Amino acid sequence: MDQEALARLEAALEAGPCESPCPRCGEKQWYSRRYDAFFCPRCDAWAEEACEDPHCEYCAGRPERPSLALDIE
Ligand SMILES: [Zn+2]
Ligand SMILES: [Zn+2]
Repeated sequence: MDQEALARLEAALEAGPCESPCPRCGEKQWYSRRYDAFFCPRCDAWAEEACEDPHCEYCAGRPERPSLALDIE
């Protein structure tokens, strides 16, 4: 993911870097306020699976991968 895509992702996900490292690559994870979830921009993966609740306001609209949020905009 290049810097421009990262900046757009930051806005789309209302996200920012946090201190906890990604278990896969060791880079800092980001936290998305919009989806109430951590993710790794480098791995383009959410830290946790979406919950089972189909009516959950956070998970229901969450794209399969963080980068897909750019296509939704
Ligand atoms: Zn990672
Ligand atoms: Zn949920």
